[in-house]
Amino acid sequence: MGKNIAIIGSGFSSLSAACYLAKAGHDVGIYEKNDTIGGRAAQFIKDGFTFDMGASWYWMPDIFEKFFRDFGKSTSDYYKLDKLNPAYKIFFADDVITVGDSMDKICPEFERIEKGSSAELKKFIALAQENYNVAINKIVLRPGVSPFELVTKETILKVDQFFKTISSEVRKRFKNPKLIATLEFPVLFLGAKPSDTPSFYSFMNFADFGLGTWHPQGGMYQIIEAMGNPAKELGVKIHVGSEVEKILVSKGNCNGIVCKGQEILADIVVSGADYHHSEGLLDQEYRQYSEMYWNKKTFAPSSLLFYIAFNSKMRNVEHHNLFFDTDFERHAEEIYDNPQWPTSPLFYANFPSITDDSMAPEGCETGFFRFL
Ligand SMILES: Cc1cc2nc3c(=O)[nH]c(=O)nc-3n(C[C@H](O)[C@H](O)[C@H](O)COP(=O)(O)OP(=O)(O)OC[C@H]3O[C@@H](n4cnc5c(N)ncnc54)[C@H](O)[C@@H]3O)c2cc1C
Repeated sequence: MGKNIAIIGSGFSSLSAACYLAKAGHDVGIYEKNDTIGGRAAQFIKDGFTFDMGASWYWMPDIFEKFFRDFGKSTSDYYKLDKLNPAYKIFFADDVITVGDSMDKICPEFERIEKGSSAELKKFIALAQENYNVAINKIVLRPGVSPFELVTKETILKVDQFFKTISSEVRKRFKNPKLIATLEFPVLFLGAKPSDTPSFYSFMNFADFGLGTWHPQGGMYQIIEAMGNPAKELGVKIHVGSEVEKILVSKGNCNGIVCKGQEILADIVVSGADYHHSEGLLDQEYRQYSEMYWNKKTFAPSSLLFYIAFNSKMRNVEHHNLFFDTDFERHAEEIYDNPQWPTSPLFYANFPSITDDSMAPEGCETGFFRFL
């Protein structure tokens, strides 16, 4: 029999959970504190300028396709996807690397910078593809209830890659610092230094060079709106402006939430909000971890973001631009090891209206600058 399920939040994770639970026959309600759905993938529109406030890189299109296919749909039922070419540009102090939309275009660019590097790149990306097939097509699809899910025939064969780092693996194969920075960049998305990230995570390099960088026309918020469709069709009730103040527990089981001072009973409570915050909604005795535990954890760093409307078109930049014209090692040290304002930060600049006219008024450009 279907259960009554309350889901906290309306980001990608909550919307996805809501769709699958509703499809399984449960009665699902989403409670979102903000006035709009989307969480960290929110969108801000002002005077015809559309800013994606968080996510802006559409990678791993296969994952989005799989999600919609599970509900009898395709991404193309909801939004138009463009493969960006070039995918992005990286600006160094004395050169610019242009990452094209296929290995055929990326290899000559590597050769230009380091003779013989394209053969090594092909081998590195082939290994990255194998890792992608294990990580994304197998491991992430498991329920995540036991660490033993990570122990498979494939991961055992790749166990050495959990003891080497991306940084050492890339440096073993490539000598030019610009190529090294280009291949280390994708794991920065994971929120840790490449020298602290196992080389198994090279699957991010396959996502980058193998699968490409895409853009949904109208911006990343199209995905959130699209995911809201199967949710609504399956009867999920979405309550925005509804902050959950407490998760109720009775006889050791969650049995509801308190939202805007009102008790709402539920058989199951699912939280898509941050773990630490979600635990704080439980009475102390039901929390799995103490404050001491959380204080010792290293969280992925946040970013400083500027959303800028330009009254003219930009030149010599692309949709995605990475400015790596300062010392990466020093930047990483100041972000991760001895946290402080970076002396000379690396930054990312996004101009989606370069490839998508709908993101800015005619003759103008929408820009978003993210200091990593
Ligand atoms: C600046 C930035 C850039 C990023 N760039 C990319 C990118 O380019 N590509 C990419 O794939 N990913 C990117 N990400 C990551 C991606 O955006 C996030 O991983 C994703 O949006 C997280 O979704 P989520 O559902 O896990 O959590 P969230 O989006 O954080 O959703 C949690 C929701 O819970 C709500 N909530 C919290 N507490 C309560 C409460 N008590 N009651 C009710 N509601 C509550 C929040 O308002 C929020 O809506 C980026 C993230 C950031 C911040």
